[in-house]
Amino acid sequence: MHILVEVLLAQILGIIGGGQLGMMLTEAAKTMPQHISKVIVLDPTKECPAAKAGAEQILADFKDKDAILDLASRVDILTYEIESGDSSVLKMAESKTAINPSPETLRTIQDKYLQKSFLRESDLPVTDFALIESLDDLKHKISDFGYPALLKARRDAYDGRGNYKLKASTELENAYESFAGKPLMLERFVDFRMEVSVIAARNTRGQIATYPVVENIHEDNILKITIAPARVPSQVAKDAEKIAHKTMAVLHGAGVFGIEMFVTPDDKILINEIAPRVHNSGHHTLQSSATSQFEQHLRAILGLDLGNTGLLHHTVMYNILGPSGFQGRYKMPHIAAENTYLKMYGKTESKPQRKLGHINLVDADDTKGTEGLLEMLASIKEQARPTPA
Ligand code: AMP
Repeated sequence: MHILVEVLLAQILGIIGGGQLGMMLTEAAKTMPQHISKVIVLDPTKECPAAKAGAEQILADFKDKDAILDLASRVDILTYEIESGDSSVLKMAESKTAINPSPETLRTIQDKYLQKSFLRESDLPVTDFALIESLDDLKHKISDFGYPALLKARRDAYDGRGNYKLKASTELENAYESFAGKPLMLERFVDFRMEVSVIAARNTRGQIATYPVVENIHEDNILKITIAPARVPSQVAKDAEKIAHKTMAVLHGAGVFGIEMFVTPDDKILINEIAPRVHNSGHHTLQSSATSQFEQHLRAILGLDLGNTGLLHHTVMYNILGPSGFQGRYKMPHIAAENTYLKMYGKTESKPQRKLGHINLVDADDTKGTEGLLEMLASIKEQARPTPA
């Protein structure tokens, strides 16, 4: 009887996007059978990572309106692992099912100009920025910011794609033309000393929790290493977590959010951008925390109490990216080292810079510290390098 009631109460979860984030959400859902009975993902790649982890798959483009409405009609609760979805279609789907984070929150976040305007209006710290509507506009507004400055596409731009670093006035015309008419914004350059992020959650009842701030090291604009916790003075850590908490409070979204920030040379925090989803810089939580960011996201959208976000041990996350100059099937790496957790995403082909997996190195007996973990990483990195099969 008891089991029957649990199964009846369990909900069907839909996820737009079935890549590695959808895969790890699916895996987390499987540990909560009393709350989630089934996962259905929408993804254009046959046998996407989430499907390999046991999700049912609707094979369709992320922006396919009919497929999104079909998914919405088949699930009790809908979420997404990509932020480029069509928020107006999601708004229509809201009549069929609960969607979190809400299409309204997504609409604000997925336009970098709307997002920064919202943050500035909410008294949250961001660099100076301006809307750019013509080449003349750019020529005029850059005089306020000076060089370098960043010209950014407002939408569908991530991992640095869609950003143009302007270094001199001679580049303005070319830079402007290279965006081929896309809506643009201009940002003052931040000479940051570190990039950090806070993974934050807000549940449907308004409860908020933040994980400790982590340090992010990028290569070619793609996240390469996350260090948990960030090597910053305790006041900076407190500021970052406070800012993340306030962001969640004003945003009103339910779910896990990745809040990327800069630490300036004088130890001030500026928000760079928010991802309305589980985030690569939160993958360390799979081992470093009692509640992974994936379970936390599900708890948040289901309206359950949020889990503990304390860091159990220093942890370093290393992204396994497809090496440059090679595309095709690759050999699975094997890592032979203690307290080192390799997670591959089940993608059959490597492509340059493609995220194929990650490793978490955990200081389980609290003897190594961050520097020790980084030394260990240096010694195993080569084993993690995907090679042609
Ligand atoms: P984005 O896709 O806008 O998050 O930018 C990708 C990367 O570009 C960030 O992780 C930063 O390294 C860099 N970046 C973005 N905006 C700025 C800025 N205003 N000043 C300096 N660097 C920036």
